[in-house]
Amino acid sequence: MDLAFWWLLIITVVFMLGWAAARYNLRYLRSKSENLLSSCFKGLNFLLNKKPDQTIDTFIEAVKLHPEITELHFALGNLFRQRGAIDCAIQMHQNLLLRADLRPNERHHTLYELGQDFLKAGLLDRAEEAFQRLYGSEYALSALQALLTIFEIEKEWHKAIVVAQQIEAMGILPLRKEISQFYCELTQEALQYKKIDNARIALKQALCSNPKNIRVTLLSGDIEIACNKPVQAINYWRQIEQQNPAYLLLVAHKLMQAYTAIGQSQKGVALLAHYVEAYYSSDLLDVAYQHIAELSGIDSAHALIRVKMQQSPNLVAMQRLLEAQIMIAEEPYKSELELMRTLIRRHAKNMPRYMCQNCSFQAKLFYWRCPSCGGWETYIPQRIEPIN
Ligand SMILES: [Zn+2]
Repeated sequence: MDLAFWWLLIITVVFMLGWAAARYNLRYLRSKSENLLSSCFKGLNFLLNKKPDQTIDTFIEAVKLHPEITELHFALGNLFRQRGAIDCAIQMHQNLLLRADLRPNERHHTLYELGQDFLKAGLLDRAEEAFQRLYGSEYALSALQALLTIFEIEKEWHKAIVVAQQIEAMGILPLRKEISQFYCELTQEALQYKKIDNARIALKQALCSNPKNIRVTLLSGDIEIACNKPVQAINYWRQIEQQNPAYLLLVAHKLMQAYTAIGQSQKGVALLAHYVEAYYSSDLLDVAYQHIAELSGIDSAHALIRVKMQQSPNLVAMQRLLEAQIMIAEEPYKSELELMRTLIRRHAKNMPRYMCQNCSFQAKLFYWRCPSCGGWETYIPQRIEPIN
């Protein structure tokens, strides 16, 4: 939970204590609550002024003064975690767990915080153990969500499916999309080990979980290729045009390879040219350019690039245009063009290509699961480019 939230919670509790002390004339309690309130405001002030070290000191002081208020421990632990002092957070929560006077809900909360400490420290087995002890408690849903994150990190897809189904059974969060992706991961794993039957079984489950999952269509084609059936693979991959043409980029090159395998590369090139025309993207153009240059010659590829550059200038097409011009240019222009191409290539190489729609994390590779926020299907395979 957010640290500011903790402060507000603690301040509310202390206010109530102070009010009760004043109302019933409890002088000792009144004095203690006034001291604590003063510490809390001091800590909040440091927090708002972004002085984390002083905030920690104030918290430690407050915890020493009032060890019985568990919220103070949780707030301090949260701050330790945020500052990277995971060892301190772990030790504090472990000590808290040893206390005999903890109420069951406080014990569960402490265990949950300890699990978060282990997760942040990368001690996944210990985090898993802590969260598993929370089954059936008021922290069950949060613990299951944390377990799901752990299994995703560990790529334990079978376990992730079980946990996601448990969360769904609680009727709060729909996770069909995620479960479908977990089955896709299992399909991919099975394909890597050439276990075709297992791949088909997992993919069928992925389709059942989410019939709109485009990755299922992609993987269906991959399975057919693994079975040496390029015609069937082409049939699957061509369906992507109807599902969502933005994803054609992910199969454009594979489609060409499949058409080449059945001796119909010209048909493949014509299909790619159609995709470029109907669903233009600089990366699709890039794939089409390579195959057109190889099969129909540099003049045809050059003509295509020249037209597209005039319609929608971008760095990828610019590189290809320069390449085509280098082929026909003579010195000294050839060297100058080569220099320009090198500079553009260097610049383009360092540019991120895709952006997560959830957290805006930018990456050079396309991911089904965002490496930053962990969201599934948050990337669209479309290049982000300043010049467009
Ligand atoms: Zn993200």
